[in-house]
Amino acid sequence: MLEIAIVGGGLCGLALANGLKSQALSFAVFEARPRLGGRIHSGQAETNGLALDLGATWFWPDMQPRIARLLGELKLPSFPQHDTGSVLNQLDPDAKPSSMAAEDMHGGAQRIEGGAANLIRALAVRLPAEALHLNHVLTALFERGDHIELHFLVDAQALTVKARQVVLALPPRLVEERLRFEPPLNGQLRESLRETPTWMAAQAKLVVAYGGPDGVDSAGMGRAAFWRDDGLSGNAVANHPRAVLGEVHDACDAIGARAALSGFFALSPSVRASFRTGLPLLAGSQLVQLFGPRAQEGETHIKDWAEEAWTCATLDLEPPEAHPAYGSRVLQTPTWHGRLHFGGSETAAYGGGYMEGALEAAGRLRREIMVSRVGDAAEAASC
Ligand SMILES: Cc1cc2nc3c(=O)[nH]c(=O)nc-3n(C[C@H](O)[C@H](O)[C@H](O)COP(=O)(O)OP(=O)(O)OC[C@H]3O[C@@H](n4cnc5c(N)ncnc54)[C@H](O)[C@@H]3O)c2cc1C
Repeated sequence: MLEIAIVGGGLCGLALANGLKSQALSFAVFEARPRLGGRIHSGQAETNGLALDLGATWFWPDMQPRIARLLGELKLPSFPQHDTGSVLNQLDPDAKPSSMAAEDMHGGAQRIEGGAANLIRALAVRLPAEALHLNHVLTALFERGDHIELHFLVDAQALTVKARQVVLALPPRLVEERLRFEPPLNGQLRESLRETPTWMAAQAKLVVAYGGPDGVDSAGMGRAAFWRDDGLSGNAVANHPRAVLGEVHDACDAIGARAALSGFFALSPSVRASFRTGLPLLAGSQLVQLFGPRAQEGETHIKDWAEEAWTCATLDLEPPEAHPAYGSRVLQTPTWHGRLHFGGSETAAYGGGYMEGALEAAGRLRREIMVSRVGDAAEAASC
């Protein structure tokens, strides 16, 4: 029987697995997707080889000590988000955008060199390969006294695993919506799971890479990050009802050679779904309106997180208006006699929804597991 089953191979699950490894505790990680990282996912541009962050991108070292420390321990360099230059502001779709000076629009945000997925790779490589199980979709959990039985689908085949402790390092709403519990979870717990939105789950991100690896544009005419030559930072905001992209940012590498712009779609998940094939064209014409004709010469990548079954629950299709207040006490309390633990960034008391929160939750879970094991040992000794 497994000692600890961690379900979810995102940042929370992998950070917890690293923490358990350092305590010499036996564990296995089960991940539904064919890749690790969850909402941290970097692609790569064919034309210039740039790593493209299609999910999480920024961290704020002044306010987020855990991620800053972890990157230091893993020796992963970071660099400041490029904010130098003017910001474009488009209020009227039929007029030219206005330009305004705004330094440090991202409030000291840093990016991970080589893409945020480097963090996932660095954590995964420190774990025994035989403890990482991809394509394992958890469907049900059964309480069995001194252990929990987990039911997975692995390439449409059923698989049962037994574990003394189980950690669900998953967005809470997915836990409530997709998993069967026997006996069922109590009403208060189910309500807390349902009321905890998955941060960014309804968003879609665009990254457009420009030029070649040498930082020169495809026609050999000038710098690939052409907006920087015009005194623009790459930051733009569109606040009008016909906006396709709500925000745009510079997404170049640390030295500004391999060039890219990234943006978040302003359209709702249902509108995006109905225009799916036309989205690159629609977004491209808005970029041209903002940054001029050279903006249409890029390589476009789009990631719609609302279409990701292992991120976005049905309730998440209606995104919260502001950053939710995370840190429900109910979700921080293990159930099933201390054997079933709830994790994921959205359960964090600090930094909830962010990468920082995933690490905060991983720290709490490691402490919870240690306490539960002491309880198990005391019970065994008294028998
Ligand atoms: C577009 C976007 C932009 C973002 N930008 C930022 C940013 O700039 N800065 C920042 O700090 N944060 C950002 N975030 C949030 C950040 O990505 C998350 O806080 C963090 O990655 C959460 O990690 P996690 O491990 O808690 O959850 P997740 O990454 O969601 O991991 C959960 C894992 O569980 C797996 N899973 C789900 N269901 C099952 C199942 N039934 N069985 C097995 N496995 C399952 C999933 O596949 C996934 O791998 C962004 C997110 C998105 C989507």
